[in-house]
Amino acid sequence: MPAITADTLTLPRLPDLPESATTWRGVRRIVRAEKFLEGEGFQVRRPFPGADLALADPFLLLDHMGAVEYGPGEAKGAPWHPHRGFETVTYMIDGAMQHTDSIGGGGLITDGSTQWMTAGSGILHNEVPPQELVAKGGLFHGVQLWVNLPRSLKMAQPRYQDIAAGDAMLLASDDGGALVRVIAGDLAGHRGPGSTYTPITYLHATVSAGARLVLPWPAEFNVLVYVLSGRGTVGAEGRPLEEGQLAVFGPGDALTARAAETQPGNSPSWEVLVLGGLPINEPVARYGPFVMNTRQEIIQAFEDYQAGRLGQIPAAHRTAADIRLEES
Ligand code: MN
Repeated sequence: MPAITADTLTLPRLPDLPESATTWRGVRRIVRAEKFLEGEGFQVRRPFPGADLALADPFLLLDHMGAVEYGPGEAKGAPWHPHRGFETVTYMIDGAMQHTDSIGGGGLITDGSTQWMTAGSGILHNEVPPQELVAKGGLFHGVQLWVNLPRSLKMAQPRYQDIAAGDAMLLASDDGGALVRVIAGDLAGHRGPGSTYTPITYLHATVSAGARLVLPWPAEFNVLVYVLSGRGTVGAEGRPLEEGQLAVFGPGDALTARAAETQPGNSPSWEVLVLGGLPINEPVARYGPFVMNTRQEIIQAFEDYQAGRLGQIPAAHRTAADIRLEES
C-alpha cells in the first residue's frame, strides 16, 4: 500500500521497556466496528461511537473507509456540509480524497497524507473523491477521526492543516519488525507533525508477521487500537484482534501487541491505528455534524448554519441551483 514506508533498520528505535518496571495496560474491551452509509452513500466501518461514548473520550468517531476497489462511476463522497465544535482528521492510505472548505483550505489527500480540519466555531466543507477516481474507479482506503474540543475551544477560529505523507515521524519498534508513523502528538519523545488543540497521540503501525509492538504511553491518556487489516493479539494476555476490531485498554504506562505469524491473504502485515488522548470529561451534546456541550448550543448551531454564519460555499464551487436558492 502507498502509505509511507521506509527501511526500519535505518530509523530511530522505540525503547525496549523493562518487563518488571513497566505497568502494562490490560485490555478492557474489544468492539467490532458496525457498518454505516455516509455522505452520498459510501460504506464505512465505525468502531465508535457505540453504546458508551465516554469510552473513546476525547475522540468522538472513527470511520474506516474501504479498503474498496471502486468500479468506474462508483466512488462517492460527502458534498458540502457544515461542522462545529470539534476537529476532523482524514488520513488516506490508498486512493485520494479532494477537500475544499469555506475558509479557503483545500487539497488532495492521498497516499499517506493527512488533513486536519479544526471546525471550531464553524466551517463548510466538501469531501469527495477526485474526478479521475470517479471516472476510472480504483482502490480507496482511508480513515476519518473526529477529535472533540473542550468547551473553551469549541468556538475557536477554524483552521486547516495539510500534512504530507513524508512529514510523518517514522520510527521502528525495538525489534525492528514494525514501522510506526506518528501523525500527531508525541511517542517516546518523538513528535509527529499534526498540531492539536486537544492533547492526543495518533499513529499508524505496520507490524510484520510475528513481530512485536511495544509502545510507552502517557499514563493520563486513554488508548485504543483499531485494526485496518491483518490479525494479531493485544495486551500481555494476548487477546486476538483482527480487521475491523477495536481494543480499548485500561490504565498503565505502556502497551504491547503482536502480529500473528500467519496473516490473511489480503494483508502481508498487521496494519493498526493506535490513538489516545487526554479525556475532556465534559457533557457531550451531538447532532449530525455538530458536537457541543448542551442541547441549546446544538439548536444555536442549526440557526447559525441556516443564517449562513458557519461560512459560505466559495463562489467557484457554487452551482446554478445554489445561486438561485440564495437569490430567492
Ligand atoms: Mn465532514
